[in-house]
Amino acid sequence: MITNDVENFPGYPKGINGPQMMEEFKEQAVRFGTDIRFNQVIEIDFSQHPYVMKLDNGSEIASDSIIVATGASAKWLGLESEQRLNGSGVSACAVCDGFFYRGKEVVIVGGGDSACEEALYLSNLCPTVHMIVRKDHLRASQIMQDRVLKKENIKVYWNTETLEVLGENEVVGVKVMNNHTTEEIELKADGFFVAIGHTPNSSFLQPDIQTDEQGYIITKSDSTETNIPGVFACGDVQDKKFRQAVTAAGSGCMAALEAEKYVMSLEIKLEKQL
Ligand code: NDP
Repeated sequence: MITNDVENFPGYPKGINGPQMMEEFKEQAVRFGTDIRFNQVIEIDFSQHPYVMKLDNGSEIASDSIIVATGASAKWLGLESEQRLNGSGVSACAVCDGFFYRGKEVVIVGGGDSACEEALYLSNLCPTVHMIVRKDHLRASQIMQDRVLKKENIKVYWNTETLEVLGENEVVGVKVMNNHTTEEIELKADGFFVAIGHTPNSSFLQPDIQTDEQGYIITKSDSTETNIPGVFACGDVQDKKFRQAVTAAGSGCMAALEAEKYVMSLEIKLEKQL
């Protein structure tokens, strides 16, 4: 929902805007009878079957099978100033907040596809985008790197780390340091955007569902099966390697097929008992 242009999903030769793509996915799912409910799952009771999901509106859903597709959330640098000024110039979503910085100078941190995409988005709104990259290269795909490096108003600072976001009540600048020379400089900026990756949204499932040390759900090899029978996981909550919309959609399809097979096996068992 918070990505701007998705250029690498098959079927969209001219690229597509993220929210619009989600709307189309939703329409397609509804056409096949999906009952969509907009709620937060607080916890799941796996001690009984069907499993019982508790929702934030107080209601419950009992289900034979569950597919976890909760994705991953933006990571922060962990600076006190970043937290204090969050919402007052600090943001993890350029596409959501960039418009407020139209005509102003901004700083963005990160060297992956998200950082490049957001830097490009900001470069169409802001006179200068200062891009802080902690290594001497970008991790982003070649096409995104080329676009960023060609863009005249994106200034990349290699081997550079953020020390502090400056400002009392709103961002006025950012103090950064070159990690090779230890030289410190202050950049004047009204906005500070963090685009350094994501954390899997799996904490509400722990300790029942097995995850790795970073919180990515562990699924069986060549499968979306978790350690709990009938519970499947797909997309970014279980994939730290590919993390693409298209691979998430593919693993979503695998999870749907496995969930269907699981539910059918329960029905066969029940018929045998009758
Ligand atoms: P990535 O994990 O790919 O990149 C994170 C970036 O942030 C890296 O450059 C990393 O540096 C840097 N970083 C991490 N922690 C810190 C820190 N504490 N301080 C400074 N820098 C830090 O995350 P993305 O969100 O960019 O991308 C995730 C996935 O989504 C990727 O597979 C990507 O291809 C995909 N994607 C595709 C898009 C598209 O096709 N349009 C758009 C957006 C994402 P380092 O390299 O040094 O580790």
